Amino acid sequence: MRKKIVAGNWKMNMTPTQAVELVNTLKPLVANDEVDVVFCVPAIDIIPAMEAAKGTNINIGAENMYFEDSGAYTGEISPKMLADAGVKYVVIGHSERREYFAETDETVNKKVLKALEYGITPIICCGETLTQREQGITIDWIRQQIKIAFLNVTADQAKTTVIAYEPIWAIGTGKTATTEQAEEVCAAIRVCIGEIYDQATAEAIRIQYGGSVNAGNAAELFAQPDIDGGLVGGASLKPDFGKIVCYK
Ligand code: PEP
Repeated sequence: MRKKIVAGNWKMNMTPTQAVELVNTLKPLVANDEVDVVFCVPAIDIIPAMEAAKGTNINIGAENMYFEDSGAYTGEISPKMLADAGVKYVVIGHSERREYFAETDETVNKKVLKALEYGITPIICCGETLTQREQGITIDWIRQQIKIAFLNVTADQAKTTVIAYEPIWAIGTGKTATTEQAEEVCAAIRVCIGEIYDQATAEAIRIQYGGSVNAGNAAELFAQPDIDGGLVGGASLKPDFGKIVCYK
């Protein structure tokens, strides 16, 4: 049985002061030991959010990192820094990073390998555009993203990772993929992992759905056999996030 994992992606929201307030508000609402709970927050919020979350079931994660340990990369944050701060999860290759910051499947792969080297669980994002869905190439596209993201990742490492299937047309739009659409792609991702590695790895890896998840649709989405939780943007900033974490 895979444990569900629900992660919030705060994106570029919340000052450090607001971050502490939000953690304090959500603390009692997300107290569910049956689910791994992660708040992926802006870099500047990591330390204060961690302090506020001490003693709770909330894990604080990062929204991005660079693929080098240190050096002349002005403005970047390294996995070494994240690991030293106690960060256990990092979102890699979110579609907004790909669109606005020119991230590619190749940089995603480098970041995945680096995060794993530092013992940080990557939440690896993949997803198709609306055009790709209409062209009927969704599964081919996702398979390619997955195959490149996992290059040189061992089966033992892959088992510890999290994949977030996020159709781009469903992110921040209020348009959720239907349960059938979400399950179809998550199941295809699991098949792809089975082909790259083996059945045991495919069964172990956790696959989230992301894209306008809210308190009203989480239970049905998370009940699907291949959907092991969600990556949640907008709704992770509201008390409703508690209802998503406590979806049952
Ligand atoms: C996201 O940021 O990964 C996301 C899924 O956003 P939203 O839930 O707002 O669609």
